[in-house]
Amino acid sequence: MFYHVGMRPEYREEPCRSALNRVKGMMFGWSLNPYMGCAHQCTFCYVRAFERRADRPSDDRYGTSIRVKTNVAEVLRRELARKSWKGEVVAIGAATDPYQPAEGFYRLTRGCLQVLAEAANPFSIITRGPMVVRDVDVLAEAAARAKVHVTFSVPTLDEKIWRLTEPNTPPPRQRLRALATLRAAGIDAGVGMAPILPGLSDRPELLADVVKAARDAGATSIWTNLLYLRPGTREHFLDHLARDWPELIPAYERLYRGRAYLGKAEVEPLRREVAELRNRFRVAEPRRAAPPAGATRPRVVGRPRRLGVPEQLTTGGPSSARPSARASGQLALEWPRTAWRSSGI
Ligand code: SF4
Repeated sequence: MFYHVGMRPEYREEPCRSALNRVKGMMFGWSLNPYMGCAHQCTFCYVRAFERRADRPSDDRYGTSIRVKTNVAEVLRRELARKSWKGEVVAIGAATDPYQPAEGFYRLTRGCLQVLAEAANPFSIITRGPMVVRDVDVLAEAAARAKVHVTFSVPTLDEKIWRLTEPNTPPPRQRLRALATLRAAGIDAGVGMAPILPGLSDRPELLADVVKAARDAGATSIWTNLLYLRPGTREHFLDHLARDWPELIPAYERLYRGRAYLGKAEVEPLRREVAELRNRFRVAEPRRAAPPAGATRPRVVGRPRRLGVPEQLTTGGPSSARPSARASGQLALEWPRTAWRSSGI
């Protein structure tokens, strides 16, 4: 049982006019989000900052009203068919988890994957949802035609930190089992250790646990990111920190005073520390990574076939859903350990 928050989200079925969003200043040029809002309600969610800027609730109400883009797969098909479309990589899940519980009912992410696979268009997915294994067939088809990468967000395996900061997400070890399933099907998959929380998930033994478990699951890459606290995320995260770990509040206030992002000078010590972890556990690098033993990689011969029409939506909502679960190969953890120690965390 994974749902720690009692309130059932409201789902708003609202068709979209466009599926692909142009993105600037990121590692990818296009994003796709079948849902807006996320029922996982992580306390550190960076999307809260965007919600604040859009004058929408970024507090406990975030994630209680989810927009469902019921026609997103059809719109995506039209957009990929345009002459102007150049087949660039599409990042799925940058602003909301594409495998949050609603996907068990609506299957919009699956529909989009089918469309991308038919078009042999490269894409990446980032998720905390083991439900992705449901779509291993489509992912394998897509991976045989174009570059596909799945990142599982696993900042920590620590039970208490997970439960208190990611109140509605599936357990991290389930995500790693899902990663192993994808790898066994020949799909490129790695781990994003993000965000690392100062004084909590940055303890050496916890970092090592994640890296080792990711390696054991067959991860082809591991990257990381530090917590950043822009307005909207900042207030909410610190409110929850004050409730769950009040002793850390003074140090966080010192560490993040006047800034949302921690600086480079604070990053290097941990980067070195985690680079050592990566070497010690011999995390596979993407080009050299082979699927776990017994894995078979599908071959596609001839013209791509149509993968089937995305499931049509019916009325109702996910109340009847049965969700099955609730930088490259260089490991680059960037938490400045020495800085927080001097801050007293
Ligand atoms: S799963 Fe991702 S998008 Fe959803 S609340 Fe957590 S951090 Fe935000």
